[in-house]
Amino acid sequence: MQYTILIIEDETDINQLLNNLLRAEGYQTLQAFSGTEAKLLLKSQSPDLILLDLMLPGLSGEELLYDLRENLKLDIPVLILSAKSALTDKVSLLKNGADDYITKPFEPDEVLARIQAGLRRAGKEKAEEKQLIYKNLILFPQARKAQAAGRDLSLTAHEYDILTLLVQNPQRVYSREHLYELIWKGGYYGENNTVNVHVSNLRKKLKDADPDTEYIQTVYGIGFKLKE
Ligand code: CA
Repeated sequence: MQYTILIIEDETDINQLLNNLLRAEGYQTLQAFSGTEAKLLLKSQSPDLILLDLMLPGLSGEELLYDLRENLKLDIPVLILSAKSALTDKVSLLKNGADDYITKPFEPDEVLARIQAGLRRAGKEKAEEKQLIYKNLILFPQARKAQAAGRDLSLTAHEYDILTLLVQNPQRVYSREHLYELIWKGGYYGENNTVNVHVSNLRKKLKDADPDTEYIQTVYGIGFKLKE
């Protein structure tokens, strides 16, 4: 697997030096020369790791880091690049979502070693996250996210819960009443149409992402199950 590293560094020479170094090691690279440029890039690109300079014009490295973690919810490793004198508060940087830091001037070998370590840690965490897979569907329980045919599904909490329940028990038929009890945690189901509406929305989203695969089967007179 080829990893992509995003280099965020305003000094052209250093940015280019890192770029050459990483390319020579077989990494793909993206270069940004300001925080704003980096944010723009991240709208269309998904790097595996970020090298982030702290002293940037405009949006500082610290502000960008905060933005990446809190607003963009990015969970890839971020390694801070900084002159020693500017690294006054390493602890708060680490607390605020940096994974590691490298002081300038840096040794190329050190940069490469820290990148490898960062990717290794991230890879381990990813592998440890248990996934539920059915046909072209993947559920990520920790993130409460779902993908069908490689496309992200934008599901409501109830839709996600219904899908998880079905995928966890592929043989089982669930009545509307039972689904309602399990997902909405009790209450009288009565005549309401809630479950039908949610299943129908869920089906539509699955179909939009993966038109050729059926995931949910209606069992006439009873309810729903996963389509075999
Ligand atoms: Ca700088």
